[in-house]
Amino acid sequence: ISSLHTQVVSDAGRYLAERCILEGAPPLSVNWKLFENSVQLTQHGMQAMAATLIFALYQSDQINTLAHQIHNLRRQRGNGLKIVVREMSASLRYSDERLLLACGASLIVPHAAPLSSFLTMLEGIQGLRLSRHIPVNIDALIAGLQPLPVKGYLPLEDFSKAVVSLMENTLLPEDGKGVMVALRPVPGLSARQSMTLCHQRRFGDVMTVAQNRLFLFLSTCRINDLDTALKFIFRLPVREAFSNWVVWYEDVDIRSEIKRLAHNMELAQSTVKRDLKAMPKNPTIIEETEAEQRRQPIPFTLLSREQGGA
Ligand code: C2E
Ligand code: C2E
Repeated sequence: ISSLHTQVVSDAGRYLAERCILEGAPPLSVNWKLFENSVQLTQHGMQAMAATLIFALYQSDQINTLAHQIHNLRRQRGNGLKIVVREMSASLRYSDERLLLACGASLIVPHAAPLSSFLTMLEGIQGLRLSRHIPVNIDALIAGLQPLPVKGYLPLEDFSKAVVSLMENTLLPEDGKGVMVALRPVPGLSARQSMTLCHQRRFGDVMTVAQNRLFLFLSTCRINDLDTALKFIFRLPVREAFSNWVVWYEDVDIRSEIKRLAHNMELAQSTVKRDLKAMPKNPTIIEETEAEQRRQPIPFTLLSREQGGA
């Protein structure tokens, strides 16, 4: 135990990092060691106990590899390590950040943070240990955090099922699954017509029509980003096409709105069934009755002058 303790103490102040995260600056002290890429950094990190490891992230296609590297380090080296990701260009979605955190990252530094703020953030996590539980199976984790494999229009029933299945995903944080919006089109525009203005681009973004309103579910979109998302998604400014809209962003509210929609749909279906029942059993009889009631053409001959006309 004492030799383990010595090792923890000895590497707690060490910084192992990809070279590019310092933007060309030299190592800040003898405690810093720089590596050319994430593979070398991971290899050296496998001997660390409480050091700070800093990865660089340039593009979203690096996320899966990085998630595996972070998960491996965290599972094998424990909760003393400080694992940091510095975003080098704007490329991380909230859902990507969530995946990296779930794999064991301690801190994700956004692209907008300048070098000096980034270094202050590193100071801020010194002495901290991770206390979150990190799942053993990373493949299940990645699969569970993937967006739904659908986008765009869905019939109401499928829309409701898709949103409910998301609400039941326990890997996603409470009240962080997305935003639901119901938009009422301006007079003269039907909800169905308004769908042609809506161009959903991301998997997991779905829409439906109910009660002459356009319902959108925007996956992992946060309420503060709703205006940005709507601006990208609609071909026209939202205020020109819709007279008002309602937004739900907490799980409990989204669930109860979906329940209400499903209830209304059932009511509508049972009304149709009741009306159908009230109709005469054999539709052909209706046709005959109608046919009988229809006026039949009567042959009519115009009188000639000789026959006494005019
Ligand atoms: P941004 O484009 O300014 O979008 C800000 C936030 O608005 C996004 O944060 C997201 O919450 C929301 N948002 C925007 N468009 C959509 C959408 O079509 N569907 C949904 N569901 N939400 C949307 P997020 O996801 O954290 O992304 C942060 C930034 O990362 C984005 O800022 C953008 O600069 C970049 N980014 C994310 N995904 C992509 C992508 O597929 N392509 C490109 N070019 N950039 C992306
Ligand atoms: P996708 O998720 O189906 O997104 C399709 C396109 O919608 C993107 O093409 C981009 O033009 C637009 N888009 C979606 N979300 C946003 C957003 O938040 N902001 C902005 N400005 N645009 C957005 P793009 O950029 O060529 O990406 C193609 C595909 O690459 C995406 O398909 C997605 O599968 C992947 N991708 C790109 N950036 C990111 C990212 O930051 N995170 C993740 N997880 N995937 C990304």
